[in-house]
Amino acid sequence: MFPVSVNRGRTLIGRLAKGEDLLDALNRICQEENIRLGKIQAIGALIKASVGYYHQDTQKYSQLTFNEHLELISLQGNISVKDNQPFVHAHVALMKQDGQMFGGHLMPGCQVFACEYIINEFLPEEAEFIRQYDPETGLFLWAE
Ligand code: ZN
Repeated sequence: MFPVSVNRGRTLIGRLAKGEDLLDALNRICQEENIRLGKIQAIGALIKASVGYYHQDTQKYSQLTFNEHLELISLQGNISVKDNQPFVHAHVALMKQDGQMFGGHLMPGCQVFACEYIINEFLPEEAEFIRQYDPETGLFLWAE
């Protein structure tokens, strides 16, 4: 099935309000706008952050929390369908006050100080991109 050719849809640009949860807010926007396939990117600053690391052996995420002010250097992600609604999967690169960089899988718990996002909607010609449980990885991946 992959790769699949898609057509361009809308491009949405905006900013999030201070205090919002980054992942919740992006999911809400995609659900309100009914973006069922797309690309998402953002930059900004966070009051605190929570990122995930996926353990391939145990097939579980561990969550790392950083209770400090951080630069959101780069958020990159995609939008597809999980449980019949738009679902954001994103990774973030973050920077500490001393310049140290780190990153991970975007999890709930990232509180926005400021965030500017761009969403590119894609329109598949055929089937939707639906996330389904993949026993080999333990992840919800796009169905073949
Ligand atoms: Zn991920």
